[in-house]
Amino acid sequence: MSAQLIDGNALAKKIRSEVAERVAALTARGHQPGLAVILVGDDPASQVYVKHKVADCESVGMRSILERHPASLSEADLLARLQALNDDPTVHGILVQMPLPKQINPQRVIETISTAKDVDGYSVQSAGDLLCGLPGFRPCTPYGCMKLIETTGVSLKGKHAVVIGRSNTVGKPMALLLLQANATVTVCHSGTPDLGVHTRQADIVVAAVGRRNVLTADMVKPGAVVIDVGMNKKDDGKLCGDVDFDAVREIAGWITPVPGGVGPMTRAMLLVNTVESAERTAA
Ligand code: NAP
Repeated sequence: MSAQLIDGNALAKKIRSEVAERVAALTARGHQPGLAVILVGDDPASQVYVKHKVADCESVGMRSILERHPASLSEADLLARLQALNDDPTVHGILVQMPLPKQINPQRVIETISTAKDVDGYSVQSAGDLLCGLPGFRPCTPYGCMKLIETTGVSLKGKHAVVIGRSNTVGKPMALLLLQANATVTVCHSGTPDLGVHTRQADIVVAAVGRRNVLTADMVKPGAVVIDVGMNKKDDGKLCGDVDFDAVREIAGWITPVPGGVGPMTRAMLLVNTVESAERTAA
């Protein structure tokens, strides 16, 4: 039997409408949430991402502050702008679109953003909070994946989850969130000799690699929940994930499509983190 589709668009829409209600309540009290988005240079993909973030803010009634800087911007000038935004009480979230020009150290930039406004959840402090199970902002993509898994109704307690990929922004925080939800977690990476040995035992598989067909049908346990984070291009130029979707959906119990799965949830969770930041400030 074919797997049930986990509809990221529908869930993101529901979450956005809940955020819009929270934004309206804050705005009525004089605390309209604000997200500052900084773009350095003119990378075409970054321009599209930033445009989406600004439109998402506006769609829920948040204020967006878009700052565009030339690719020649110095690191010192960018850090000074971030300090100013840290000190601005009308700004509740700050994000700097990656990648940055080579004269700017991205980690130094991330660490300059106040932890209270680190709505991407990328700072060492935010990562440490997640590691220790303390409150803090969770990186939007894995946070969104957890919400997608939640909609299946599958309890994670005692289940075996396999995460493919160990980046600081997706794979590692994903593994920690699954661990926090009491799953038994295995993390695979480019040095894992036989991925299938692990994934065939998994009740939940999260693929976050960036390579087509990393997960094929013979690697999936019947009935498993499959979350596809990957964003790749097919030969015809269309977007696809890391999972061999057509074949895997015949084996899995639940599966996210690409597009329409993790992508819209990443965007929605940025709004959730920003409204939460504004609520903390207004409390
Ligand atoms: P990344 O930083 O390049 O990390 C990729 C990870 O995959 C690394 O840990 C790497 O292992 C591992 N890997 C590479 N080849 C592998 C293989 N053959 N078998 C097993 N593991 C392998 O990428 P990322 O930022 O985590 O993103 C992963 C994918 O998700 C990309 O396609 C990205 O575009 C997509 N993404 C989507 C969203 C969304 O909203 N939909 C958000 C973020 C990212 P090593 O550590 O050993 O190198």
